[in-house]
Amino acid sequence: MAITKTDVLDTLADARLASIRFRVGPVTVSAAGYRKVAEYIEADAIKIKVGGKGTDPSYFMDSNTLRFPSDSESSNERRATILHECTHALIDIEELHVLRLEGEVAAHLAQYAYLMRLNGNPPFDDSDKAAVADALRRIHASKHPVSVIQVAFIHNLHNAKGFDKTIEHKFVSKLFKDIAGVYADVGDRAWLTDLGVPPTAEMGLRRVLEYAIRRTKSPRPPPRSPFDLPARRRERTLL
Ligand SMILES: [Zn+2]
Repeated sequence: MAITKTDVLDTLADARLASIRFRVGPVTVSAAGYRKVAEYIEADAIKIKVGGKGTDPSYFMDSNTLRFPSDSESSNERRATILHECTHALIDIEELHVLRLEGEVAAHLAQYAYLMRLNGNPPFDDSDKAAVADALRRIHASKHPVSVIQVAFIHNLHNAKGFDKTIEHKFVSKLFKDIAGVYADVGDRAWLTDLGVPPTAEMGLRRVLEYAIRRTKSPRPPPRSPFDLPARRRERTLL
């Protein structure tokens, strides 16, 4: 089933998001931020597109468009995917200067924190408390890459204990391998040098929203619409 504008707005308005708030670099993931994204989507300043079967869910920052595949998974996973892409949209709206790695880590952690919150259980059996304590110690001490799910879990991003946590830089860099493995087309250097969402100088999202709101209030559009600006040569996409 395809994800619609209503599905996206429904996810962004989910009261369960109120229990999730954390920071990765300059990004703050919070219900308030997602309410802001919803405002842009309601005004069609960010549009929803349906791609073909198996299309990667993406946020196109130049055309301010969220794209989802025509087929999608179970309802909880759908919701978590929507939240991931809306995290990229939030970074775009706030014009944050984040590295691709930080932006992707924030989006993935939001996705898994929300999924854990929805499923009501951690990603592995936590009935053996001693084993869990040992696993956590090993993750903390590890010099090796760890997984996004482990980082979301040990920081309790899905429950009250992790509310308002800051993810330290050492965890962001430990996630490099886990995240970079998903995006084969992004070179290693780009993760650490490219900005995740470059500032939208030509077509700031705030301006697009102001225009969209003005347009609904007045029957005559202003002479120069930001929608008419020429598209940039290469569309930058965040999966
Ligand atoms: Zn992403």
